[in-house]
Amino acid sequence: MSTRRRSGTHAMDGQAKEQLVRQVVELRKRGRAEARPAQPPPAVPARGPASGALWKLDQHPGYLQVKLMREGAQRLGIPDPFFRVHEGIAGSLTQIDGRPYLNFSSYNYLGLNGDARVSGAARQAIERYGTSVSASRLISGERPPHQALERALAEAYGVDACLTFVSGHATNVSTIGSLFGPRDLVAHDALIHNSALLGAQLSGARRVAFPHNDWAALDALLARERRSFQRALIVLEGLYSMDGDMPDLPRFVEIKHRHDALLMVDEAHSFGVLGRRGLGVREHFGLDGCAVDIWMGTLSKALAGCGGYVAGERALVDNLRFGSPGFVFSVGMPPPIAAASLAALECMLAEPWRVAALQERGREFLRLAGEAGVDTGTSQGYAIVPAITGSSVSAGRLTQALYERGINVQPILHPAVPENSARLRFFLSSEHSEEQIRGAVKALAAELERL
Ligand code: PMP
Repeated sequence: MSTRRRSGTHAMDGQAKEQLVRQVVELRKRGRAEARPAQPPPAVPARGPASGALWKLDQHPGYLQVKLMREGAQRLGIPDPFFRVHEGIAGSLTQIDGRPYLNFSSYNYLGLNGDARVSGAARQAIERYGTSVSASRLISGERPPHQALERALAEAYGVDACLTFVSGHATNVSTIGSLFGPRDLVAHDALIHNSALLGAQLSGARRVAFPHNDWAALDALLARERRSFQRALIVLEGLYSMDGDMPDLPRFVEIKHRHDALLMVDEAHSFGVLGRRGLGVREHFGLDGCAVDIWMGTLSKALAGCGGYVAGERALVDNLRFGSPGFVFSVGMPPPIAAASLAALECMLAEPWRVAALQERGREFLRLAGEAGVDTGTSQGYAIVPAITGSSVSAGRLTQALYERGINVQPILHPAVPENSARLRFFLSSEHSEEQIRGAVKALAAELERL
């Protein structure tokens, strides 16, 4: 690992930094207001002399924000940490610009992306079915890997059926967006993923966030509001992607029953991660598959593929097969991807040591980071451990300092998290060695000290 010193000029003083952050926050607020006006837009023609140059794409508030962030980072001497090109399989190690890095920026939780059995299954599927199904499965039909993967996932959850979508994000948007409507209530954890938020917005349901993991607040909310709505949906994550903590699921199940609500759990970061066999938050708490109405997950993380799934009772899956726009009006998953995720699921079930190793590494990272005084927030040490720096500027600097020591880890900046809780997010993998974890936490603590 290189120990080259940072060479940035860092010439900006505290006041200038604060001003920059304020500018970004303000621009963001304006951008939101301009992108989605609450009132009817003012009577300015969308194009034409009276609108000035506002209609131009280079005046769009989203683009102005990107520009401002770039310029700010440049003035602070922080190189852009995004869109790095990995020149091979990104596992616990990776290669960027010809240099090896210890990698904490990939969701390859069980080290199955690049596993010979997984890649072999994809190759075989390509030879047999090609790389695409070209249209919606409704129109162009299914391929055996679709059905086999969905059967295996339904079995893993102990439920009737499962449906896969080409994107995890589209799975949430399309499932929540199509199942609920203006007479319904969607109550979600305040830290829920953007895809679930967009699904709730699309549905037209009344959307209410309850404080993170606060089942008592949800209970009170439903006691107050439930009767005004036809249906109520509670949306949680099995393991929260920014914080690495989990809900007290049995409590939420009890609340759902008491208020006649439906419960949806996004297992993007918990399937393959929690439970002895990796069967997710359900296995962690020893619950039946039917304890949750809508299990959602992604194939891109522990299962080394791409896409999302919904698992649950037959009525749910049949409804989505014919009514969910992200499934009905979108292409079916490429057969090699379905075959790869199925092979990864089989490997996970056959090799529970992978899940055990991942959990062990996570615990160790959390313990060492805690001992070194790193602020890890509410992380429970399963696969995701944040190092909270406070400001976005500090997160950017810390990322770059670690990168120069040969450690690749991504910053999470405002607006993905509130400005005062910007962080570096470490994703663990079953492939990380104890030594790599120790080395990374030592480097992290040293660089935090120097910030
Ligand atoms: N849900 C959660 C909790 C996520 O973190 C993500 C993205 N990582 C998604 C849904 C979307 O999944 P995908 O990246 O597969 O589209």
